[in-house]
Amino acid sequence: MKFDWTKKGCALHKQAMALGTILVSALLMTNPAQAGSISRIEASGSQITVSFDDLVEGASTFSLIGPNRIAVDVKGGKAGHGGYATGIIKSVRQGQYSPNTARIVFDLDRPAVITNGGFSNDGKSLKLSLRAVGQNQIASGRKSFLPPMKFRAEPPKNNYSVKVPLGKPRDSVGLPKIYGPNDPSRPLVVIDAGHGGHDPGAISPHGSAREKNVTLAIARAIRDRLVAGGRVRVALTRDTDKYLVLEERYGIARRLEADLFMSIHADAAGNETASGATVYTLSEVASDREAAKLASRENKANIINGINLGGATHDVSSILIDLTQRETMNISADFAKLLHREGSRQMPFRKTPHRYASFVVLKAPDTPSVLFETGYLTNKNDVAFLNSRQGRSKVAAGVASAIESHFARKLAAR
Ligand code: ZN
Repeated sequence: MKFDWTKKGCALHKQAMALGTILVSALLMTNPAQAGSISRIEASGSQITVSFDDLVEGASTFSLIGPNRIAVDVKGGKAGHGGYATGIIKSVRQGQYSPNTARIVFDLDRPAVITNGGFSNDGKSLKLSLRAVGQNQIASGRKSFLPPMKFRAEPPKNNYSVKVPLGKPRDSVGLPKIYGPNDPSRPLVVIDAGHGGHDPGAISPHGSAREKNVTLAIARAIRDRLVAGGRVRVALTRDTDKYLVLEERYGIARRLEADLFMSIHADAAGNETASGATVYTLSEVASDREAAKLASRENKANIINGINLGGATHDVSSILIDLTQRETMNISADFAKLLHREGSRQMPFRKTPHRYASFVVLKAPDTPSVLFETGYLTNKNDVAFLNSRQGRSKVAAGVASAIESHFARKLAAR
C-alpha cells in the first residue's frame, strides 16, 4: 500500500477549533454572497436532503455513538431552524458551530451510517443516503462532499476578520521542536513524558526507578523510532527533567495543532504481582474503580503543597463543543485498540487493556489523546523491561507501528 501522509481530512475539524484556543476571531462583517443558509432539512426513509438558499463551500459527515447520531458540517453555511424527520432519524437539530460552519445533528433511532451522497448540479442541495447497520459497524472519520466547482462558494477572505490575542496565560511554556520531515502536511504526534521536575511520579520499591525518568526515556525512544520511520512529525512536551502542569501538556499539542497526543506513564501498585500495560482514554465515567483511582492519582500532579497549579477545567458545556469532544473520544478509543493490537506484539498488556477514566491530561476537546501506562514500577519484570534500552525499543516499536497504522487507516477511510 502506498501512503500519502497528508492530513487534509481533519483540516475542517482542526480549523474550526484552532481559533478558540489562542485567538478569538471577531467577524466584523460577513459576505452574504458567501454564506448559504440552511433553508430546509428533510429526512425520510433512508434519504436526507439539506437545501440551501445560496452557495456553500462543502460539507462533511461523521458518526457519533452513545447515543447514535450523525453530524453534518456545512462549510460556508449559516444555520437555520428546525427540520423534518421520520424513519431511522428521530429528530434534527442545527446550530452555528463556528463563524463559517453550520452543524446539523441527526438523532438516530437505531445505528446507521451515511453510505453516499452528493450536491445537486446547482450546488443548492445536498442529498445523503443512510443505511441501518450493526452497532459495531460504525466507524470514525469523515466523509466529505463538494458542490460542483462552478457552484461552490469561495472561503471568506481573511480581511473580513480580526484576530485578537487572548492574553498569554499558557505562553510560559515555549513550543517544542518538531522532529521529522519538514512538511506541515504530515500528521503531527505529540508525545508527553509524564511527571518531571519536583514531581517524580511513581517510584519503584528500591528507588532504582522513578517514573519521570522512565517516561522521558520511553518518550525519546518513541520519537527516535517515528523519526526513523519518516512518515509522521513528532514533538515532545518535555525533553528535560522539568515540571509541566497537566493543561500545559495538552496545551502544547493544541497549539501545535497535533493530530494525536500520547501521554506516557508507568504505574505503581501495592501488589507487586500486578504487571503489564494499559491504555486509557477519556470518559467522565470511569470503567472501574481502579481506573478512577489511577486518574485521581495522575490528576494530583497539578497539586503541589496543596495549591492547584492547573487552571479551571475546560468548559465543554456547549453542546456543539461536546459533540466535537465525542468525535475526538471515538477516534481516541479506536487508536487505543490499535495500540493494544500493535503493542501486544512487543510487550505484555493487562487482561483489560483499554480502560476509561477522567484524566485531566486527556481533556483537549479537539486532539485525539491516550494515556499509556506502560507497566508497573512495582513489578520486578516490568521495571527491568522498561528500564532497559531493549525494552524501551520494543515499546517504541509497538507504539510507532500503532501510530503509523492509525494514520494509514484514516487515509483509507476517506
Ligand atoms: Zn504517572
